[in-house]
Amino acid sequence: MYRMLEIDLSTGETKVKDISGLFSKFIGGTGVLTYLALRELSSQLDPLSPQAPIFLGIGPFNSYFPSASKTVAIFKSPLTGDLGESHAGGRLAMAIFASGFHVVKITGKAEKPLYLSIDNEKVNLVPCRSLWGRSALSVERILREKEDNRKGKKSILRIGPAGERLSPIASVTVDSSRHFGRLGLGAIFGSKNLKAVVISGNRYETIQNKKDYLSLYNELFKDLAYSENTYKYRDLGTSANVLPLSKINSLPTRNFSQGFFESAERISGEYFAENFLAQQISCAHCPIGCIHIATLRELFADPHMYKTIKVSYDHELIYSVGSNLSIANAADVLKLLQFIERQGWDAISIGVVLAWATEAFQRGVISISDTGGLALSFGDSQTYLKVLEKIASGENEFYKDLEKGVYHCAQKYGAQDLAMHFNKNEAPGYMTGPDAFVGYAVGVRHSHLDCAGYSIDQKFLGRQQDIEKEVKMMYEESLWRMVTNSLVTCLFARGSYTPNVVEKGLRLLGYDVDLQWLTKTSRIIHGMKYLLKEKLGFDFEKLELPSKLTKIYTGRGMMSTVDFKERVKVYAKLVSQDMYLAKEALNQQL
Ligand code: SF4
Repeated sequence: MYRMLEIDLSTGETKVKDISGLFSKFIGGTGVLTYLALRELSSQLDPLSPQAPIFLGIGPFNSYFPSASKTVAIFKSPLTGDLGESHAGGRLAMAIFASGFHVVKITGKAEKPLYLSIDNEKVNLVPCRSLWGRSALSVERILREKEDNRKGKKSILRIGPAGERLSPIASVTVDSSRHFGRLGLGAIFGSKNLKAVVISGNRYETIQNKKDYLSLYNELFKDLAYSENTYKYRDLGTSANVLPLSKINSLPTRNFSQGFFESAERISGEYFAENFLAQQISCAHCPIGCIHIATLRELFADPHMYKTIKVSYDHELIYSVGSNLSIANAADVLKLLQFIERQGWDAISIGVVLAWATEAFQRGVISISDTGGLALSFGDSQTYLKVLEKIASGENEFYKDLEKGVYHCAQKYGAQDLAMHFNKNEAPGYMTGPDAFVGYAVGVRHSHLDCAGYSIDQKFLGRQQDIEKEVKMMYEESLWRMVTNSLVTCLFARGSYTPNVVEKGLRLLGYDVDLQWLTKTSRIIHGMKYLLKEKLGFDFEKLELPSKLTKIYTGRGMMSTVDFKERVKVYAKLVSQDMYLAKEALNQQL
């Protein structure tokens, strides 16, 4: 049985619902959550109001198969007003499963700061005034100690001060260095006075056909642990992308002014591994182990008093506070990341905001009186640290604005052509060409994770462009991700979770499915997402390419607005058929 736990933080009331029917129709994870969100989110709903729901969900593969280690969060984004969707690893998926639920829905607003405790069936709202104001790192340490006596699997989600200040670029940190990073879930936690969630349980399930299950499990495990597909993630992690991207003119540098960073070698995955890497760790039940943790020793008092800090890094983080700010010193990148981690901002978003502020300052749109005397300059990590401190302390209106996202800042101060966002979401770290940019624009969450356009660009490097074919490839990738995000497997495991493997796995778990059903269901989920986005105000025709990107060389040369619009049009046409299918399916469901 698949069950949803509903918690109202205003009243403390809880309900448990059987949602097995939804799992059989929409697989689980993102499929089921999108269906639920479609019923509850609207353009009028204030995402920071007590009524706004947070859905956390896992899928049928979590706890059963390796690298099905992610949890999906769906909400209305306070950053974009559009669909908010974010995925996080850690131990959360296993803990939700072990607690006896598959979906947790949180609404309401607590009168005073609290953390939500779920231990098997037991739900408690625990006042935590003393945790309010604390960093995302220290809260985890305190709660881990306090809740140490729990049995089974346990996961801790929490926000830092940025979420308390309702910054729409605030993230939720999960266990060690995992995040619901994008689109502002941290602000929604803050708006509900919800500092943290501790979830645990010790439910275990057995499976009927053990022999076939073990055979599939072992096949998957071997592939994930030892294959070429996953080697890169284990070895250098995604930071292996830094050098190759810079070589093909695709690494955003100095606020997307160029794709080549002259000091890329000094912030490359290789450099971090050789000089700072302390350990590779893994989300629970994942044999890939892509999380790279660096240590940095800092003198805090003369003559020999040192502290050691641990910071995780990956490609996106290195891009956002490295090449895009022209920081060529790896230790400085780690110091900036640690500050961001403590505050609980989404690192991509805050990096893009800093890059915009720097260029806007150089152009004279931002003045020295706005910055309180600081002269912003690319490459100046000391000043960037001071800027982050001033944002954290809310020193003046300008600094308060910076944590509201780059779209907000550009609307208010100007230099809109320098604001690198797609549909108000700050741009990720690939400028490979048209498929990357169009992917950010049309994707369901305006992220590089929607359809991996950056990877399609690389397949077309040096080749004649073929708009229909490229857009179709993006669309098909996006469709298959509807399935894997419903299961909910890690995207880094996508090479192993082929359609045949997924079909076999679902059958072993009691789903009566075949490949045709999977294809149709992926299109229905895709269509439901765009129905939801349309309901929230999304319109393909309003999508824009940041004008700066028409003036720079990407991995595939320059891109024109005409080309961008044409690709969007092709994508929108494909999506319209899925929306039609989704409407039909929803009519049957009702
Ligand atoms: S590949 Fe990395 S992010 Fe994905 S589940 Fe494994 S450890 Fe977590």
